[in-house]
Amino acid sequence: MSDDAPADAAARRAVAPVLVYPADSLPPPPLALYGTALAGARKVDEVRVAPRDAAAVSLEAGQFLRIVSVEGPQVGDLNLFHRDDLSERFYSGKTRALHGTHVGLGDRLWSCLPHLRPMATIVEDSLGWYGTDAFGGRVHDVIGTRCDPYTGRLLGRGDYHHCCHSNLTRALADDAGLSLEAAEAHVHDVLNVFMCTGFDAEGRYFMKASPVRPGDHLTLFAEIDLRAVLSACPGGDCAAEHTSDVAQCHPLLMEVWAPEEGALGGWQPPERNPYGGSHGR
Ligand SMILES: [Zn+2]
Repeated sequence: MSDDAPADAAARRAVAPVLVYPADSLPPPPLALYGTALAGARKVDEVRVAPRDAAAVSLEAGQFLRIVSVEGPQVGDLNLFHRDDLSERFYSGKTRALHGTHVGLGDRLWSCLPHLRPMATIVEDSLGWYGTDAFGGRVHDVIGTRCDPYTGRLLGRGDYHHCCHSNLTRALADDAGLSLEAAEAHVHDVLNVFMCTGFDAEGRYFMKASPVRPGDHLTLFAEIDLRAVLSACPGGDCAAEHTSDVAQCHPLLMEVWAPEEGALGGWQPPERNPYGGSHGR
């Protein structure tokens, strides 16, 4: 303890924490309904994400996006948008506040303000068994941002053009018919699919080799019409290097599955957040 600590330092530190958003803060997703719909669904689209590159796929509200590991351990950096409105995008910070540093079965992926509604719900996670390892590592984080060439410059490295930020920018530009400059402005902090990360005792962000193996998958239910853009990170399984051509990299698959007619009953996509936007004026 440092010398300049006040006399009541121990008492101040002893105050018990309070969960900001307890587990019962949000209405639970209808996982049984989604599970039944997924069980009867058929695959309607499949997009291969090449190693050190990104690809996009669109799906309708009520369909499923399954991200699959193929050929070898690989992590993916995922951006989500409303299919027809790029201003509504995934909000990793609020998702982290609501669900924790890592997401899993039953957690939702929320859109940015002022929309703030569930974009997707996690309905399958074949790495759910992993839990928390001895180092405090967990999978599928909403902590990290995405590897990018600007941080590379900051750290005194040479330009590397196949980092996730650049991969996502090129794929979104092609998919949405935008210039690179216009597309880049929409790229945002990601869901790190399959990535294994945590914080050490000093609070520093760490990564370690992902436990993902071919066949592992993460399946999202699309709560709204979605455009998903996924980068197969140049870090591969992110065991060591993050932004380089050194790591062994593998492709990822994005599959779109459509439920049978009527399988979702009277389910409706969630409305945009009802706050009126007056901000007190
Ligand atoms: Zn990356």
